[in-house]
Amino acid sequence: MSVGVATMVGMTDSTAEPTVFSRIVAREIPADIVFESDTVIAFRDIAPQAPVHLLVVPKTQAYRDVVELAEGDPALLADLVATASRLAADPVAFGEHSGAEFRLIFNTGASAGQTVFHVHAHVLGGPLQEGTLAH
Ligand code: AMP
Repeated sequence: MSVGVATMVGMTDSTAEPTVFSRIVAREIPADIVFESDTVIAFRDIAPQAPVHLLVVPKTQAYRDVVELAEGDPALLADLVATASRLAADPVAFGEHSGAEFRLIFNTGASAGQTVFHVHAHVLGGPLQEGTLAH
């Protein structure tokens, strides 16, 4: 079967189905949005796994996971990390848990727990279980 590279990696194929996160960007489905810029959006995870659990997501769905993003647009990956850091320091986004420290997780691949193939960072804060990497 011939599948274009763009389709395979979810690139800017205009026929690609919007991901759930693109639908949040387009305000087609609701989310508790805590930050938005021209390039990224951040909102609260619908099923939080920590006292604070944000998702920071590039607006483009061109990259399925962090490896593709690092290869395709390292500046956008740096933007994602800087956004996570700023939000973790922001009392509005992180509430009583705001400060310099946070956990940043990129599930990469279905067997690693990735369910949405539109790259996103999980930003976790508050008391976290030591010794686990699970989100
Ligand atoms: P992952 O399993 O790493 O792909 O993460 C996907 C995350 O997206 C999960 O933690 C879900 O709870 C979260 N999620 C899925 N749909 C929504 C939504 N509509 N609003 C907020 N978070 C969502």
